[in-house]
Amino acid sequence: MIIEEQIRLALDDISVPGFERSLGSLNMVRSAKFSDHSLKFELAGLVMVGLPRQVLEVRIDKELKKLPGIDQIEVTYVESKPTELNAIGQVIAVMSGKGGVGKSLVSGLIATGLKRQGYSVGVLDADITGPSIPRMFGIAEKPIVCQNGVLPVLTASGIAVMSINLILDKEDEAVVWRGPLIANAITQFWEEVYWGKLDYLIVDLPPGTADVPLTVLQSIPVSGVVMVFTPQELTAMIVRKAVKMVHEMDKRIIGVVENMSYLYLDDIDRKIEIFGTSRGEEMAAVAGAPLLAQIPIDPRLARLCDEGRIEEYQSELTGQLADGITESLSRDEGQEASHDRIRE
Ligand code: ADP
Repeated sequence: MIIEEQIRLALDDISVPGFERSLGSLNMVRSAKFSDHSLKFELAGLVMVGLPRQVLEVRIDKELKKLPGIDQIEVTYVESKPTELNAIGQVIAVMSGKGGVGKSLVSGLIATGLKRQGYSVGVLDADITGPSIPRMFGIAEKPIVCQNGVLPVLTASGIAVMSINLILDKEDEAVVWRGPLIANAITQFWEEVYWGKLDYLIVDLPPGTADVPLTVLQSIPVSGVVMVFTPQELTAMIVRKAVKMVHEMDKRIIGVVENMSYLYLDDIDRKIEIFGTSRGEEMAAVAGAPLLAQIPIDPRLARLCDEGRIEEYQSELTGQLADGITESLSRDEGQEASHDRIRE
């Protein structure tokens, strides 16, 4: 391996004092130059002062001087806004035609599935009037607020989470907010949060097809939408409306998820469709997108969510959701690339 690569890897691995994450995951290292035994580079973003800066420099010195030929190290600090620092691969918005269908739960399962596959994952809880993400992941601590932005809180498995609940003093404060204020807060979560380097950011949208989810789809570069529904009577109409809205916004649907599809009774080895006959395939046809999963009503899952331990849920569903999403996104990208070639 050439020395520049070794330097880059060693730098990216260094943990930032007080922030529980590395220079690499925060995407802070800029323009490293190495010549004549001397290394110069910039650290962008969170400008550190006082003791944290001293500790960071001691760590840098210790790690880099392990490499051959580095005698001198010079670091300069550049203040950067989160938007200049963030490098987010795919933004997946999770949407539902109405509330209470398990949209947040599906967001949590998707994040867990992708994280288990080794991706770096964040969750932006945009369901401001019913923010259940922090509770589901058992997060109680407050995010660190820096000069130009806020650092998301990390879950037990290392998923970065940002939610209005983590900022407000009282959990129920945001419930009385009006649409524009909510939309504003969500845009700030995009612009003023140090997400750093992420492969996937899952956005748990507010329910329905009103102004707020619409504004989010407009103001955040969403790669695609996952639609969640339950097998109830009005589902077809609600899903159709939501699909229409997504297409009008010029966004694509990555896939659909049927939640509370059935209840499995293991003593008699039978699936019971409590909310009516499954409509998974029908809704997939309506959305023109694959059926990613049919999630059963699972008291174990409900309990883990209540206890803040969704990341411990053992089921093939998490892998199935993650695979479905990565496959659907890469298929769409392949199609776009071939359309681009035809246009050329
Ligand atoms: P939404 O985000 O659509 O409003 P939530 O994800 O917050 O809905 O889910 C509402 C409630 O239903 C939560 O308490 C959740 O734990 C429970 N729940 C959702 N889906 C399931 C399921 N498949 N099995 C058991 N409980 C579920």
